[in-house]
Amino acid sequence: LLRGRFQHLVTTPNPIALESEPIFEKENATLVILARNSELKGVLLSMKSLEMHFNTRFQYPYVLLNDEEFTNEFKGRVMLATNAPVQFGLIPRDHWVQPAWVDEAKAEQSRERLKAQNIIYGDSISYRNMCRFNSGYFFKHQLLQQYRYYWRIEPDVKYFCDINYDPFKFMIKNNHTYGFTIALYETPETVTTLWDSVKEFMVKYPQYIANDNAMDFLSDDGGKTYNMCHFWSNFEIADLDFWRSEAYQTFFEFLDNTGGFYYERFGDAPIHSIAAALFLPKHKLHFFRNIGYQHSIYQHCPSSYEAGSNTCSCSWWNTIDYTKASCLPRYEAMMSKELGMTASPLPW
Ligand code: GDP
Ligand code: MN
Repeated sequence: LLRGRFQHLVTTPNPIALESEPIFEKENATLVILARNSELKGVLLSMKSLEMHFNTRFQYPYVLLNDEEFTNEFKGRVMLATNAPVQFGLIPRDHWVQPAWVDEAKAEQSRERLKAQNIIYGDSISYRNMCRFNSGYFFKHQLLQQYRYYWRIEPDVKYFCDINYDPFKFMIKNNHTYGFTIALYETPETVTTLWDSVKEFMVKYPQYIANDNAMDFLSDDGGKTYNMCHFWSNFEIADLDFWRSEAYQTFFEFLDNTGGFYYERFGDAPIHSIAAALFLPKHKLHFFRNIGYQHSIYQHCPSSYEAGSNTCSCSWWNTIDYTKASCLPRYEAMMSKELGMTASPLPW
């Protein structure tokens, strides 16, 4: 009698076990964080936010990278912040430091020039190393070789919404390559020669330019000039194979050879964005409008319409999307033209 009556208690799975085990089959994907030992607190904040809103349920593994060895304290505290597997990697020196062929006198002039112009990180060598690493090397790290997709995470960022679906599955299912949440304008002083180099590249390697590309996101005059729009690369959900492709490899080498990472201060955001916009057909780009996200002074907060079944703890009116700082209106105008709709006018 007891058995029959309490049968449901015996056969109901243990709820605690359910909570700590992945409910879904995982994709071949990882959460990547580049960070310094001094950024431990910021890394823990970002992880706490991501774990709470997403990864406690999905259990994607982390890869943390650093140009110096992570300390035991750093590793220990990061491992306590998640149940998911964590790997820590050291970046090979030749993937990080300013290459010997770079003319240091010229690089120093650039640092002084940008500093005098009050450009953020204008005088920083390590920031330039970081931008070059994120542009040309992170996907070559040994710990990332086994993975196809990644989600880039930075210290001190915040995710606002409960993400109740798997963005990696979404990318795969919809045949997307590059996903973003915020699009804005680059500081022109950091990329003064970049567009000339891009144009040279397009002439030399027309075979890499997609027919149905997103040039209209990058340029307001059909490619003559760069409008500084880019996807903010501190958030990326993307396909590592794109960066490993011949087109992107050739592009990175070409730009690196100009010395622009050191003679200017090329950011990885415009480099990634220009490549994604030109080498991919537009439909391979994706705006994750239902993922609320904050980095420094900017945030994307979904409206309840945009959030769909994700619930967000941010104010929908506090979002960069339709402000003057945002390139999203350009992106949306381009995409709606693609769908044969009348392009909505820019809101200013
Ligand atoms: P910002 O977002 O452009 O203001 O620049 P951040 O200071 O946030 O740097 C971007 C990313 O690179 C973050 O993930 C940082 O932790 C990382 N980063 C920047 N400089 C260094 C560095 O010198 N060493 C390491 N290991 N990571 C760095
Ligand atoms: Mn940052």
